[in-house]
Amino acid sequence: MTLLLTTPDVVSLIQRRTLPGFLRQLEQAIHDDFLRWPEFDKSARPAAHSPHGVIELMPVANAQLYSFKYVNGHPKNPLSGLPTVMAFGALAEVSTGKPLLISELTLTTALRTAATSVMAARALARDNSRSMALIGNGAQSEFQALAFHHLLGISELRVYDIDAAATRKLIDNLAPTAGLKVIVANSAAQAVRGADIVTTVTADKTHATILTPEMIEPGMHLNAVGGDCPGKTELHRDILAQASTFVEFEPQSRIEGDIQQMSADFPVTELWRVLRQEVKGRTSTDEVTVFDSVGFAMEDYSALRVLYTEAREQGIGQEATLIPELQDPRNLYATLVAQTERQAPARRAA
Ligand code: NAD
Repeated sequence: MTLLLTTPDVVSLIQRRTLPGFLRQLEQAIHDDFLRWPEFDKSARPAAHSPHGVIELMPVANAQLYSFKYVNGHPKNPLSGLPTVMAFGALAEVSTGKPLLISELTLTTALRTAATSVMAARALARDNSRSMALIGNGAQSEFQALAFHHLLGISELRVYDIDAAATRKLIDNLAPTAGLKVIVANSAAQAVRGADIVTTVTADKTHATILTPEMIEPGMHLNAVGGDCPGKTELHRDILAQASTFVEFEPQSRIEGDIQQMSADFPVTELWRVLRQEVKGRTSTDEVTVFDSVGFAMEDYSALRVLYTEAREQGIGQEATLIPELQDPRNLYATLVAQTERQAPARRAA
């Protein structure tokens, strides 16, 4: 049997652990897997582009487990009542190829992206970071806000979106969070002024410049989440030219990240090397650091691993007969015969 986790199942699982607790579990799992980086078989994700958006497949494996995620990015979807990003994925046993889990990953993508952003900021932002600008107040924004608040101690948030309704939605959703002061800015520049960390999580399939060089102050950490496919960027190239840039999996980030604007030899550092303390992250309090996030398959592998363990422990989800259950594994045909015979009396009665 394969375990099936729907969105309500994942919500139940998070409710039992609490959102901060679950985000912590995710950050820990992603961190653990990034430390084991060389053990993984990695590739840049294949993408199917259309004028409306992109659909991507994200596989990764180590000696024990294989996973993949199906994910899209269609910035105009909210106009027709659909999320910009939707996802599902699977986890399988490498020794047999047996699918262990099929799960929703739309909600989980928002959670794992926020947990990864915090993991990067923990390694790259200044230690005493307390304020964050959050530009782009759509579906991902609450998860970024709450992960940075609960896991990293961000207590002041300056928020901005070109759509005032998105910002109102974010403020309403954050209102119950004690100890998090939310300030609405009337421009990206106003949101960014004086912030320790700047998160950009906008969606537009264009070379946008959400941040320009004059907005950037010494010591800032930029968590650039929204520029994540060819032709879709958020940072002015001169910001990158003057900062230290960190990426997930370099071959994929060169195609999809904000660094697609830079030459092929533009220097970047893969984050796992910083986490393994092979290289330094931030080298001074004045340095500007950029996490050019695009989302890498290993983050979904870690999330699927956590979901599977948690769901089994908590007894959540449904067992699905995704693979035929055979007495003789070579007699696949028997499945068809057995089911036809089982259904025959019902058909005769009708
Ligand atoms: P969304 O459509 O729900 O929200 C995007 C928001 O950005 C909207 O409210 C929109 O009004 C705002 N926006 C667009 N242009 C803007 C601008 N110039 N200035 C200010 N705000 C602007 O999308 P979402 O699900 O929140 O995703 C946001 C982005 O993050 C997408 O591009 C998505 O592909 C990306 N993403 C990246 C990762 C990753 O791992 N790096 C993971 C998930 C999503």
